[in-house]
Amino acid sequence: MAGALHAAPAPALETRIVRLNLQHTWTTTMSSSEYRDVLYTSYSREGITGHGEGAPIVRYKEDAKSAEKAAASVRALLLSAPPLQFAKTMNEIFRRVPGEWASKAALDIALMDWVGQKLGVPLYSYFGLDAKDAPLTTFSIGIDTPEITKQKTREAEAYPVLKVKVGLATDEPTIEAVRSVTKKPLRVDANEGWKDKEEAVRKINWLETQGVEFIEQPMPAEMIEETRWVRSRVHIPVIADEACQHASDIPKLREAYDGVNVKLDKSGGMLEAYRMIQIAKAMGMKTMLGCMISSSVSVTAAAHLSPLVDYADLDGNLLIANDPFRGVRVEKGRLVLPNRPGLGLIPV
Ligand code: MG
Repeated sequence: MAGALHAAPAPALETRIVRLNLQHTWTTTMSSSEYRDVLYTSYSREGITGHGEGAPIVRYKEDAKSAEKAAASVRALLLSAPPLQFAKTMNEIFRRVPGEWASKAALDIALMDWVGQKLGVPLYSYFGLDAKDAPLTTFSIGIDTPEITKQKTREAEAYPVLKVKVGLATDEPTIEAVRSVTKKPLRVDANEGWKDKEEAVRKINWLETQGVEFIEQPMPAEMIEETRWVRSRVHIPVIADEACQHASDIPKLREAYDGVNVKLDKSGGMLEAYRMIQIAKAMGMKTMLGCMISSSVSVTAAAHLSPLVDYADLDGNLLIANDPFRGVRVEKGRLVLPNRPGLGLIPV
């Protein structure tokens, strides 16, 4: 009986859907919304709890319920697997579960948070990185009316580089509204908004005159040949986002894009994101870490890999009003990684 009283609790995986409320209605070429539902996971074992999060992406036919169902389908596998065999376990989860990348990301992040805590090292140290190499992050300005765009740009005063969403008919008024308020460098994301290659070249050539550093996903993901044509006629880097979900996508993008935007919710977590960054670098491409609308769990996980990349767009947690955790911080635009074990999260 005494043994039973002192036995460690059984390993547990909990999942729940969390509604993140946005500070501003968020509009891109794909959607407009006031909140996002994400999947939270927690993996507990030996008195340590790792936290994970995945933001399901509508474009890949995911939602929070399907993500939660996918996580439940591999609960037994995860709980029976030795936790330090995390890469083997995640490979098996990737093999068993079709799609549902956000769900896989939520599992991978919880597992990696647990491993970092178990080993007593922050995850950037686990990956052999120097927190001082973490880059600046952009702060994103969603599509809106010129007046609200100006107001959002003023509110972003603390951030030295801004990311602006374009790809609708209002591109020029949007950029002009931002430029009427600030001279900061801009990075622009068209989210596949331009369907015609000549229009894309015209728009990008105009953006080049507006202090834009690079253009993300100017054309639909499947228009690789057209994007190659566009890339040969513009003078700023062209970065793939929707065209690049996994490591296996990268080789075919080399001629059409200068770099790739890696996101944990697309890749299925930190391990695949790390592979993608290394493959892109080996191919001489630029690398970027981005995020969806997420809380500090997912954004901090991405930030632990950010010392590896050229560009970071890790502001999802800054756009919400009810973040349940504190983790990575931004100081003068630069990502400051927690030096606590694992993700280094603190509940708010
Ligand atoms: Mg993008």
